[in-house]
Amino acid sequence: MVEIKTNGELDAMREAGRIVARALAAAEQVAAVGVPLTALDEAAREVLRAAGAGSPFLNYRPHFAATPFPAVLCASVNDTVVHGIPGAYRLRDGDLVSIDCGATLDGGAGDAATSFVVGTPRQADLELVETGRAALAAGIAAAVPGARMGDIGHAIGTVGRAAGYGILADFGGHGIGRQMHEDPPVPNEGQPGRGFRLRHGLVLALEPMFTAGGADAYVMDADGWGLRTVDGSRATHSEHTVAITDDGPRVLTLL
Ligand code: MG
Ligand code: MG
Repeated sequence: MVEIKTNGELDAMREAGRIVARALAAAEQVAAVGVPLTALDEAAREVLRAAGAGSPFLNYRPHFAATPFPAVLCASVNDTVVHGIPGAYRLRDGDLVSIDCGATLDGGAGDAATSFVVGTPRQADLELVETGRAALAAGIAAAVPGARMGDIGHAIGTVGRAAGYGILADFGGHGIGRQMHEDPPVPNEGQPGRGFRLRHGLVLALEPMFTAGGADAYVMDADGWGLRTVDGSRATHSEHTVAITDDGPRVLTLL
């Protein structure tokens, strides 16, 4: 069931979203060559704790997972596209890192992700990350009342395909509200003018996931969480929680 939020609920979600933005910024700030991924999770945990926010990631166990997720943040490095567990791995020069974090506060949830390079970047990685951000921006621009879900997917997918990237199969964005994952699903490709009609008060997490090698398929890590590219190529993930409003798209997960 798709829930339409009141303006008061949107304001509550904005507070949760601001905490997510702070947690991501704190995690990115500690990311450096030689730093273990656990330190990124700890930085995000501290932000949630200080804000009195809950984590929708910690102990999350969707249908595809064999074990509950053990952290408040996903850290996906290089060929891991999404859902990486932030473990003991120490970051190396040139690593491409995607971090994804959520928060719940006063009945509202927020969900956002960003990608960046640690140390000396490869030009191809910078272009991949930039294209993911551009696709997210295009999806946000399409998130207006009267448009259709297919317009968002079309906007996101067109940017990724034009660059020759793959678009991770089976995973995409989602509705969000009290829970992190709500209806409706938000595919990263779509037909313009088709699908669910967007209206004021609908809140969606938009999240392009692109693979540099061009394949849409993935392989799952032995831990049952991390999703890797089939060819070892690198990947990018960017996400914002966005409210559709009569005044235009309202991004709830900005600082
Ligand atoms: Mg997310
Ligand atoms: Mg999400």
